[in-house]
Amino acid sequence: MSENCLFCKIVEGEIPVTILYEDEDIIAFNDINPQAPIHFLLIPKKHLSGPEDVAIEDERVAGKLMRMGNEIALQEGCSQYRVVVNNGPQAGQTVFHLHMHILGGRDMSWPPG
Ligand code: AMP
Ligand code: ZN
Repeated sequence: MSENCLFCKIVEGEIPVTILYEDEDIIAFNDINPQAPIHFLLIPKKHLSGPEDVAIEDERVAGKLMRMGNEIALQEGCSQYRVVVNNGPQAGQTVFHLHMHILGGRDMSWPPG
């Protein structure tokens, strides 16, 4: 756990969230400020600040984020969705614990803003 990390606090159960899935490696929960009818986040339980922190030993868990993101989206009745990882403030990252957004349930435009 990294001190003062919001998502580590969610992993520790210190901040309540609507959990969609949890196992020994990852947790998925609804975004508190949804940008689409379906908007949830998947995070590794291990604190990694972003993609640059993903080491070889983290590859299995990083892949699980993608696989479970798809499974949860399907469970939510959503087979078409957008996957977003914001890396760095310029890209819109505000929480510096690696997370994958899944957004769906509406038409999406491209390019993103
Ligand atoms: P990013 O801007 O890519 O770093 O994404 C951080 C996301 O975390 C944003 O979409 C926020 O709405 C979301 N978020 C912040 N606090 C919480 C919380 N307590 N529970 C659920 N989602 C949160
Ligand atoms: Zn963290």
